[in-house]
Amino acid sequence: MSTDKVLCCECRKEVEYTVESKQMTSQLSDKDYVYTGQEARCNECGSLLWIPDIHDSNLRVLYDVCRNENGLVPLDVVRAIPKKYDIGQRPLSLLLGWDEQTFTRYYDGDVPSRQYSDMLRRIYDEPEYYSELLEANKGSLKSSLAYSKSRQATDRILCLPEGY
Ligand SMILES: [Zn+2]
Repeated sequence: MSTDKVLCCECRKEVEYTVESKQMTSQLSDKDYVYTGQEARCNECGSLLWIPDIHDSNLRVLYDVCRNENGLVPLDVVRAIPKKYDIGQRPLSLLLGWDEQTFTRYYDGDVPSRQYSDMLRRIYDEPEYYSELLEANKGSLKSSLAYSKSRQATDRILCLPEGY
């Protein structure tokens, strides 16, 4: 039970509510996924309540299940890439030859296609591969600072002397 109150459309007032775990089924790309989500019900009339935080957390669980079942790259791996190679989300997207906003969409939780997922996992797992990509596509970056920062971070991982 929560002490917060939210508006119940049936009771037409702010009510206390109870959150319970529940097995849910949702469809993504024409496929059904079963996952354990949460639902909130009004303590007075029992109506389902729409609470943004609960909705968001259900979506995260659903996307994780979808990723697992399809062998797609986990979200925490996607989010670790910019930090690992000290590169911004937009420069990274350009480096991969994608639209400038594409990586950010995946960073924010969108489920990538198989092809994009494999690319992201490989970049994370293989610094050598990222390093090659950085060299080959540095021309697509908008600033040389983005390149040199990422070059340094990548060299540290590869244990090469600076300036290589
Ligand atoms: Zn109610």
